[in-house]
Amino acid sequence: MLSSNDQRDLLAWYDEHQRDLPWRHSSDPWAILLSEILLQQTQVSRGLVYWQRMVEAFPTIATMATAPVETVLKAWEGAGYYSRARRLHALSQLVMLPKAEGGFDGRLPSTYGTLLSLPGIGPYTAAAVASIAFGQPVACVDGNIRRVMARHTAQQDPPTKEVQTWADSALSHERPGDWNQALMELGATVCTPRRVNCESCPLQSTCQGTHEPERFPTPRKSRVKAVCLDALVQIAADGHPVLHQRPLSGMFAGLWGPMYHEHDVQRPAPDWLSCGTVEHLLSHRRMTVHVFLKTEEAPPHGTPRSKVPISSLDEKVLAMASKHLPTEHEG
Ligand code: SF4
Repeated sequence: MLSSNDQRDLLAWYDEHQRDLPWRHSSDPWAILLSEILLQQTQVSRGLVYWQRMVEAFPTIATMATAPVETVLKAWEGAGYYSRARRLHALSQLVMLPKAEGGFDGRLPSTYGTLLSLPGIGPYTAAAVASIAFGQPVACVDGNIRRVMARHTAQQDPPTKEVQTWADSALSHERPGDWNQALMELGATVCTPRRVNCESCPLQSTCQGTHEPERFPTPRKSRVKAVCLDALVQIAADGHPVLHQRPLSGMFAGLWGPMYHEHDVQRPAPDWLSCGTVEHLLSHRRMTVHVFLKTEEAPPHGTPRSKVPISSLDEKVLAMASKHLPTEHEG
């Protein structure tokens, strides 16, 4: 349990030490929602760049709702987890519908339960937006808060329900948005997975894990799966790569890229030139992609890369293949 002194000290620490992040200067629920969705499984330094780009491209829910999903995916390019962008687009269209048609008349709902009913919004995002954008007294739980709770209570594997109960009981009802952000900020900058800085922590006097913080919590087993594929790159006569839109579900759904196949130890065909291997890490997959290039029998037209959304992995694949192009294709 956190005491009222802990609450006061953590909020005072947050007021003094919080990082200066642009969405913290905004009271616009849409801008706050964008930050919360972009920062899921993304480092803040990278999230900053993409947040700026998304806010400029889609300053309001209406601007996203009226844009084609391809345009949203293009703006999202490089941020990864593209299903988030697709669901955000679906959310914007639902919010813009009139109430009579099941929508929200263009206004993001303010309560936890209603936010949770929207596409792509899970318990964490619903609690974060309800508290930060609308001042609702709802406690967030994310990986940072779980780590702070596990250490503060010296538990190696606290069940999710228990972490939520702890967060609910610790919540400041006067400043719920700041409180949630303060706990997450503490986990991100002080109570970090390694090199924990207990000396700077406002909760040190009541923390049961401060003597051996890295014992808590026990690291969760990684479920990263190794995937090995062959990418078959073909360059058209106009110099653009031949790209195909991926299916609307599964990995890189709806994005464009070269053809992929299960890796074959044999070269796909004798006239495919082996260009090398690209390694790419996703949250649950370690991708090894063997890149092959075909320059014979080129079709007249390819797809300009600037016109379609492409994953970072495919950017790397195309860059590797382009190094092996005959000189007339370069540039
Ligand atoms: S005292 Fe150390 S272990 Fe405890 S919450 Fe603070 S940083 Fe984490």
